[in-house]
Amino acid sequence: MSEGSLENVVIIGSGPAGWCAATYAARAQLNPLVFEGAITEENRMSGTLPLGQLALTSEVENYAGFPAGDLAAFLDSSLPENRRLMMAPHAGEGVTGPELMELMRQQAVNFGTRVITDDILKVDFSKRPFTLTPAGGDEIQAKCVIVATGASANWLGLESEERFKNYGVSACAVCDGALPRFREKELVVVGGGDSAVEEATYLTKFASRVHLIHRRDELRASKIMAKRAHESEKIDIHFNSALIEVLGDDSNGVTGVRLQSTTGSDEETTLKAAGVFLAIGHTPNTGFLDGQLDLTSKKYVVWKNHFRTSTNVEGVFAAGDVADDYYRQAISAAGTGCMAALDAERWLAEQE
Ligand code: NAP
Repeated sequence: MSEGSLENVVIIGSGPAGWCAATYAARAQLNPLVFEGAITEENRMSGTLPLGQLALTSEVENYAGFPAGDLAAFLDSSLPENRRLMMAPHAGEGVTGPELMELMRQQAVNFGTRVITDDILKVDFSKRPFTLTPAGGDEIQAKCVIVATGASANWLGLESEERFKNYGVSACAVCDGALPRFREKELVVVGGGDSAVEEATYLTKFASRVHLIHRRDELRASKIMAKRAHESEKIDIHFNSALIEVLGDDSNGVTGVRLQSTTGSDEETTLKAAGVFLAIGHTPNTGFLDGQLDLTSKKYVVWKNHFRTSTNVEGVFAAGDVADDYYRQAISAAGTGCMAALDAERWLAEQE
């Protein structure tokens, strides 16, 4: 148990890795404390709101144990009413990302996990106990820390993209796709991975047409997702194309895009569009670590030992997408969350 203000295990992050680590740590009687992130406009824009990336997706078809089916009654019985109200009514096809995340959170809370809805801005891993500084509260001392802060969506970095953020440019179709400005309009999705196809497919519910812009001549997405994009009557795939400018004006927001061929011809085309959705990969949320953990060249936390979640700092563990640039699946994140809690439990036992 925690002694005074000294915590046994603090978990930073609230995606599958964070909640799974919390459930295991709570069941190991470690009385874990989770910082789930703050609910702020800044976090909304950067994709770092509580519950992680899965809360920004639609149906989750590949999480083990959740086949398609009407889960409404199960959700009603599993979640308190105030958390149930935060989600859209169940669509009936299978579990959605936000539902899965609420269930994971509830499972951790059911075993006694304490949750603080705030960001950790700063950490000091130079001496034990470790010190964590939340955005809106007193410093926390912790014997052990699990970093599970995930990754957030990348942007192209264009000036025009920045100008029209919130006025037709978004990195989350599920969050913004249903807005009136996008209804029955032509929309653009940039990217060729599973996220891009998922976003494009989701947007076909609202758009008159979805243009998927990909810089290469084949999709990176998994075969089943790529097939879905190719077969959709509403999705046009523009291969070998790069978005080089978002077009628009102050009164209408986004009105179109300028594309350039990536095959060397520099040929340019324009497309009419009321919205642009970026799905071009992710960057791990490791900035707050301020160089205190070893990171890869792509800024992912380095796992120091084979098949262990330990980092270069003894007593600090990492789980989920923050340390995984390869699998990046909800289920693998949850799995490494479980591993991090077991690693933390064993490490704490060794200290005593
Ligand atoms: P991703 O697989 O890394 O794909 C990113 C895509 O964006 C690639 O097609 C890449 O092009 C393109 N891209 C990157 N930088 C670009 C730039 N500057 N300009 C234009 N295009 C750019 O990322 P993701 O789609 O977000 O998927 C991440 C992980 O989550 C994957 O492991 C994926 O399987 C998983 N995921 C799974 C599901 C699902 O199973 N339902 C759904 C979503 C995500 P290139 O192809 O040329 O590199």
